[in-house]
Amino acid sequence: MEREPSTQRWSMDEEDVSGDVRTVPHGRSLLSSSMVGSANRGRVLQTLFDLGPTSRAELARLAGVNRTTISGIVQPLLDQQVLVEGNPIRPSEAGGKPARPLWFSPDARPICGMMLMPDAVHTCLVTLAGTISAEHSVRFPVENPRIADIESAIETCTSRTLASARREPLGIGVAVGGMVDTDRRAIIAVNLAPVLNGFELGDMLTRRYGLPALLDHHPRALLVGDRWFGKGRGMQNFAAVYTGEVLGGALYLGGHLYRGRSGAGGELGHTFVQVDGEVCSCGRRGCWETIATVGWLRRQARAIGLDTPDEINSRRLVALAGAGVPGARDLLDLYARNVAVGIANLQQTVAPNFYVLHGDVVGGGEIMAEAIAGHVRALVPSRSGGEISFAIGETEDRAALLGAAGLVLSELLQFPL
Ligand SMILES: [Zn+2]
Repeated sequence: MEREPSTQRWSMDEEDVSGDVRTVPHGRSLLSSSMVGSANRGRVLQTLFDLGPTSRAELARLAGVNRTTISGIVQPLLDQQVLVEGNPIRPSEAGGKPARPLWFSPDARPICGMMLMPDAVHTCLVTLAGTISAEHSVRFPVENPRIADIESAIETCTSRTLASARREPLGIGVAVGGMVDTDRRAIIAVNLAPVLNGFELGDMLTRRYGLPALLDHHPRALLVGDRWFGKGRGMQNFAAVYTGEVLGGALYLGGHLYRGRSGAGGELGHTFVQVDGEVCSCGRRGCWETIATVGWLRRQARAIGLDTPDEINSRRLVALAGAGVPGARDLLDLYARNVAVGIANLQQTVAPNFYVLHGDVVGGGEIMAEAIAGHVRALVPSRSGGEISFAIGETEDRAALLGAAGLVLSELLQFPL
């Protein structure tokens, strides 16, 4: 399915961003004929993101625009230092003029990525090529934190990161470890830090820094990071699944991130896998989160008498299983199966067929991924053309920060979300 940027507000010009994007940082407008130039530009840039460094001729062909149009799009982006031309590469043996691949300039305006967790905030700058720099993190007070303390921690952290930016960032993207109203750019609920409930973080950041600010639920940000900078590059259908102290996921279907109304969709951790099962952090019973988190793993490790059960995670479990520690291999298999149960439901419902695994299971590497894949394949009836594949995502913080930056990028490119 061909993707079309649906609106026009793509601009890397400082003036345009301060005027247009900043005043309506999350609004939407329809494509009109006078904006087609911009739509082409969005498509060209998106093609570049999907393919990596690419020559003009190839880019024009794949984005479906002619050579004159591509020059009209590329030249201003080169002038604005959004793109750079690399060293000439030899074309095929047929000869011809050596092509110079285009790619995102390290001097382009960066994006500020933020990860907000129940106990800390983490910020960085991300280049359009996906390089992370200027990372800072600040922990929140543990004993009865007040919202003012958290606001000031966020401000300290963000200001340190922004001080390193050589050019004004394009915006601030935030991955929130909790429920988010993406339209209001506010936090709805963070089970592990209720003081954040109702916090209008997007408005606070825009007010304080004068930059567009976008929020999304942490697993959805992971997926956006995969789509722009990671294993989901160029994909039309895939899902991101995160396991850790909580469990979550996000879906990308037919070239669109599926958010649901006001961002209410994708609460995969709270889909039911066991009728009348254990009580979940959400207060209901039998959620997927009750059988496939690190908390569950710790309880099981204690029950079977593993040493230091409180330190168990996928990385350690794989090592213990490899060393032949009694019970470890079975526990690994059970954990993998419990993760697979939710994925199998997802596969049967919407069939993304490609899953990027995030969070704790990343530490278990290929062994963990293979164990999960094996169970999913056993749980889902096989059908021709329906191969299910798995990839291991970036390490935890990196994945979330790239994802947070990706939220801003999606908005700038008017990527259909
Ligand atoms: Zn639940």
